Amino acid sequence: MSITNFLDKKTRVQTRYPLTEPILTPGGKQVHWTCPFCQTTQLTSTENSYNTIGRLSVGVTKRGILGIHYSAIRCLNGNCKELTLTVAVGNYGVTDAGRPTLKNVYNEWKLYPSSNAKPQPDYIPAAIVSDYREASLIVDLSPKASATLARRCLQGIIRDFCGIQKDKLHDAIQQLKKDVEEGTANRSIDPATLNAIDAVRKVGNIGAHMEKDINLIVDVEPSEAMLLLNLIESLFEEWYVARHNRDQRLQEVVKMAEGKETQRRPKAPADATGADT
Ligand SMILES: [Zn+2]
Repeated sequence: MSITNFLDKKTRVQTRYPLTEPILTPGGKQVHWTCPFCQTTQLTSTENSYNTIGRLSVGVTKRGILGIHYSAIRCLNGNCKELTLTVAVGNYGVTDAGRPTLKNVYNEWKLYPSSNAKPQPDYIPAAIVSDYREASLIVDLSPKASATLARRCLQGIIRDFCGIQKDKLHDAIQQLKKDVEEGTANRSIDPATLNAIDAVRKVGNIGAHMEKDINLIVDVEPSEAMLLLNLIESLFEEWYVARHNRDQRLQEVVKMAEGKETQRRPKAPADATGADT
């Protein structure tokens, strides 16, 4: 996800298990799906996905007649083939076409994988990725604990990538702004990225909390905790991955140039006679 559009997308919020419209209906409708393990987008089919809605035959509960929906998908990427498994509980009903459906979802569980955390490359420091993974894991269960870890993760990124050591996240961001304005910041940090950090800082309670101690647990809305995670994912992509890819490309150019130089050298004595070819 690009840094410029992640604020609008809020992907995690919108992709909460939409059980009124199951991932794959029992009729076998194909849908676009992205594997949480390898991030490959693909069309599901009856060959690699299975989901069903069943009535929980326990009588009428205080929430009415309940049903359970589970969905299992096998990734079609030959190098991945991972299983993704989700379960949800809601009100059981039957559509006009006679198919079972869930009308309201009371709870949902990502059984496997247990969070939406995206796999991250090993050149991002392990402590930073670990905070990100843990924050992703608990975002539904405890947004405030997730946001606390996410703030710590964000501070770790700014310390590691930008070389800014400040006790408070708010101060670290102010220093980063100053560095960018004065042209002394890491060259990979462009103003668009900084604007995104600033935009998140202004959302709801997040900004106020950035001024407080990083370890202080404070109340936030689930959508705010999601936003912080989306920001972190964007920084991974825009800073670490972009820098790594650029370094790789430049190393290849150097290698190619050295190769050319080696090829040219044996011809040097012949050229030295003054002949053109
Ligand atoms: Zn996969």
